[in-house]
Amino acid sequence: MKILIAEDDDISRKIIRTIVSRLGACDTVVDGAEAVEAFELAWEDGQPYDLILLDIMMPDVDGQEALKQIRQIERQMGIRGKQEVKVIMLTALDDPRSVVEAYYRGGANAYLVKPIDTEKLKAELKKLNLLPAGHEPQGMK
Ligand SMILES: [Mg+2]
Repeated sequence: MKILIAEDDDISRKIIRTIVSRLGACDTVVDGAEAVEAFELAWEDGQPYDLILLDIMMPDVDGQEALKQIRQIERQMGIRGKQEVKVIMLTALDDPRSVVEAYYRGGANAYLVKPIDTEKLKAELKKLNLLPAGHEPQGMK
């Protein structure tokens, strides 16, 4: 599994990376513009991401705008259905409006509230059929 983490906060990014790097090959970027660029480059290399963990609150291009651009690029490239990258939005805020917007307008697959918890992340990945074998969340075997 190939994973992209887009998170502007250094500490959060390190924590998320520590959790996620056990699950697959993992790249990190620090804003939405870099996320979109990394997404495009991965397709150009023929090795697209399976999962993007996308922070909502980032400077310049935020997570929701990045998500819109990523879904737009997929449409332009004719990428549909199962080929579409799974996107989990990350938010530190208890902000239902932005979460709802991310879900219904941006095409997010799930969201997680920070700090990211290993078991919650695994449970979401399992729902998205992205959990590698041997990583079942506690109580879900
Ligand atoms: Mg942030």
